[in-house]
Amino acid sequence: MSSAVMPTYARFDLEFDRGEGCHLFTVDGRRFLDFNSGIAVSALGHAHPHLVKVVQEQAAKLWHVSNLYRIPDQERLAERLVANSFADYAFFCNSGAEALEAGIKMARKHFYEKGETEKYRVITCNDSFHGRTLATISAGGSAKVRKGFDPLVDAFDHVPFGNMNELRNAITPQTAAILVEPIQGEGGIHVGTLDYLRALRETADEYGLLLHYDEVQCGIGRTGKLFAYEWAEKAAPDIISLAKGLGGGFPVGACLATREAASGFTPGAHGTTFGGNPLAMAAANAVLDVILGEGFLDHVDRTGRDLWNRLVDLQKRYPEVIAEVRGAGLMIGLKCAVDSGRFVATLMDNNMLTVGAADNVVRLLPPLIIGEAEVAEAMAALEAACQSLKAEAAA
Ligand code: PLP
Repeated sequence: MSSAVMPTYARFDLEFDRGEGCHLFTVDGRRFLDFNSGIAVSALGHAHPHLVKVVQEQAAKLWHVSNLYRIPDQERLAERLVANSFADYAFFCNSGAEALEAGIKMARKHFYEKGETEKYRVITCNDSFHGRTLATISAGGSAKVRKGFDPLVDAFDHVPFGNMNELRNAITPQTAAILVEPIQGEGGIHVGTLDYLRALRETADEYGLLLHYDEVQCGIGRTGKLFAYEWAEKAAPDIISLAKGLGGGFPVGACLATREAASGFTPGAHGTTFGGNPLAMAAANAVLDVILGEGFLDHVDRTGRDLWNRLVDLQKRYPEVIAEVRGAGLMIGLKCAVDSGRFVATLMDNNMLTVGAADNVVRLLPPLIIGEAEVAEAMAALEAACQSLKAEAAA
């Protein structure tokens, strides 16, 4: 396969030209159950009628103006996100990495404006993933992602995920913020306990640090609440970065913050050409229409629990293939006892799309709209894959 596309991905030889709900169709007519969702992006599946209608109508009206002007749909989206979170303000951008950059810059500016210019460092976790810009690979805890890009941004101190002693020991007079994914996605679906999230909040308060959550992957309904941090009481952050599911497939990122945390973000302090444009805002508002609709998050929660129970049963029957099931809601990791790449490929042979993660994990990230039929279809494909992988392992 020769292509003029820069080879930064080892791509599967599949070409999709149509999506409908939880399924994708290839140019040669194969039908796949999509439990990848473009890596947790297509929260409402493909070609969702409400999203299609709203985006088509907006596309015929107005796509882009600059942030030099008021954008009513941007104000509306910000109000809705603020009304449903800890935050007072929202800044919109186009990707997860930008949503992280905004939060990292915000924390620095916050302390700069207070005259505490020595505070610029951020404590982050081993195995975390925060994006591919220079600052976000420096923040991330993956040596593989950082390799070849030295010198990095020297502003991050890494500690083991879930370990409060090491985190507290890493705090210095230069520390400005703590940046954590409540559930690590790329790192292999490591779920922060509710006690961990509460301890992060308490420690941030004790030392006067800003708490910054990366909910790019675990936010926007994926765990059965709009934000994953909501599962823990008294664990709300000062800053949160969002993207992926927020646009339902349209590139939208957001950084939400309290008034206090964002106090340094005055006119001119930060900006974007495309972020928050009318077309993107129409898409994100349409996503929220559905996700905040009556009973939607309860549906995600119920479906997640049903899927979880069935996966735990599968794991017990195939321990030589699946070592462990972990996750929350519809963000589930299967820690494999066989090679996770083989698992992804075998599921693909059974017309089901999933995505790998670090730590030999296969991620199940279905559209949040899956129902009983899709859960049953997924379980049939998983059962078939486990059978053939068990036979392979025995051979
Ligand atoms: N943060 C987390 C937790 C992610 O999972 C990702 C992407 O996978 C990012 C940040 C970066 O997002 P993007 O690829 O949109 O820049």
